[in-house]
Amino acid sequence: MASAIVFIGAGPGAADLITLRGARRLAEAEVVLFDALTDPALRDLAPQARWIDVGKRGFGDSTGQTRINALLVRFARQGLRVVRLKGGDPSVFGRLEEELAALAEAGLPSEVVPGVTAALAAAAGTRRPLTRRGSGRSVSLSTAMTREGRLQAGRSADTEVFYMAGRQLAALSRRLREAGWSGDTPTSVVSRAGWPDQLASEHRLADLAAASVLHAGRPTVVIVGVGAGAVLAGDSQAPETRAWAATPEQTPSP
Ligand code: SAH
Repeated sequence: MASAIVFIGAGPGAADLITLRGARRLAEAEVVLFDALTDPALRDLAPQARWIDVGKRGFGDSTGQTRINALLVRFARQGLRVVRLKGGDPSVFGRLEEELAALAEAGLPSEVVPGVTAALAAAAGTRRPLTRRGSGRSVSLSTAMTREGRLQAGRSADTEVFYMAGRQLAALSRRLREAGWSGDTPTSVVSRAGWPDQLASEHRLADLAAASVLHAGRPTVVIVGVGAGAVLAGDSQAPETRAWAATPEQTPSP
């Protein structure tokens, strides 16, 4: 029987944020299919393996997914120990369902090793808990983008974390206010969370668009509500975390 294809969450950034189990499975791999977001230093955990970049940039969206599924099946059928390495956690906006379905259809066994998802790295990086006793009882992980590329956002939890919204901050701010959030709601924007060059900024929800330039071109999450805000400002314990206020006049020196 073919060995299980192991889906591993690489965590959000620095290679040491992978789990111990993830690192152990990686060390046994013969082939690793990885995405663009993962840290190149992870390669040191599996120098023996053949590393194949299947990030969207390399393959182009949906045909890319079909291709990835086919590669997983092909390598597993060759009897190779295959790892599918994904940024963050494989079960959060990682199309895990599509790849698992392809393996199930091919009758191949699989295993999933969890990872630290970007929302959790952003909370750690800003040292702002996503929950709070009494007032922060729920957290939602959302993408504001529908499959058709429309922006959709509402109010479903005390803390909302939006993935893949970095290019849509003005529209996200508007949508959330239409959905009942006050323009004064604390909002944090964290890009490259968990990496040494992480950036974090905090804003009133109404001023969210001001973060666009700062975080442009970087993987970004937006945290709205209880899990966002205040702790960032003037936090001298956080040399890797720089806080920008909504207006440039208030920008502290890094
Ligand atoms: N499976 C991943 C998410 C993949 S979707 C996870 O669990 O984290 C890709 C989106 O994740 C990006 O558009 C961005 O919104 C977010 N993201 C991934 N890595 C990030 C990071 N280091 N910092 C901030 N956001 C990140």
